[in-house]
Amino acid sequence: MEKRRKSRAKGLLWCLILLLAALGFLVGAAWVRSITAEKEALQEELAKYRMELALHRLTEVQRAAIEEAEAEAKANEEAKRLSLKDAFLARNREELLTLVNPWHELSEEYEPHLTEIGDGMLFDERAAGALKHMLEDAKAEGIIAVPVSGYRTREYQQGLFDDKVLRVRANGFEGEEALTEAAKEVAVPGTSEHELGLAMDILDVNNPNLDWTQEWAPAQRWLMEHCVDYGFILRFPNETTEKTGIIYEPWHYRYVGLSAAEEITASGLTLEEYWEKK
Ligand SMILES: [Zn+2]
Repeated sequence: MEKRRKSRAKGLLWCLILLLAALGFLVGAAWVRSITAEKEALQEELAKYRMELALHRLTEVQRAAIEEAEAEAKANEEAKRLSLKDAFLARNREELLTLVNPWHELSEEYEPHLTEIGDGMLFDERAAGALKHMLEDAKAEGIIAVPVSGYRTREYQQGLFDDKVLRVRANGFEGEEALTEAAKEVAVPGTSEHELGLAMDILDVNNPNLDWTQEWAPAQRWLMEHCVDYGFILRFPNETTEKTGIIYEPWHYRYVGLSAAEEITASGLTLEEYWEKK
């Protein structure tokens, strides 16, 4: 009886030992597996990191190349912009000197750069500021000069010309002769520089007449002396009709830009002669 109980206890002990051993084995295996997985994950992460590092270095090299290319492109652009600016300024200078007279008709393609300057008048925006300053400076010296006619459309010029022809005919001129006579005082449409938007007729406040009496009016004395400082020239001086095709007009000022105005005034040439010399 005692012997049977002992052997059952022994059997149970063995069972327990085996169970514990199996459990220990399972736990150990799981631990080893988890360690291995952790190691693998670490290795994987390390590999990724190395790859990233390599990529990063590559990107830095690329970035340097890109930066260099960008700097070069920027320099090229700057050079291009500068040359475009030079070209623009040259074209601008040339345009401000556009010659319009009985022998040089203004192209119908010409697009004036107009801005409103008050009293319903339009003027070239590149000359409007100079005109304003000129008139203000005159005023500061007690001289009142009044701009009366700036930009004219071709249609408006046609109207002025047709009116003149009627008046000339009333004075006995006929046919072609009437047209020639009218053209001496009013430009044939397409040949008036008022169509450029760069010419302005300016009168003395005390003399409303567009005739030779303007010559000695205080406003004209002041303008003739100072207009050059604002980029203007007296376009049709006395005794230049043969060269300009237009009678003496001591009220008609033309904007040509500062340096050209200085050159033309110093040389004493008409715009026609200036162009010929160029
Ligand atoms: Zn005029």
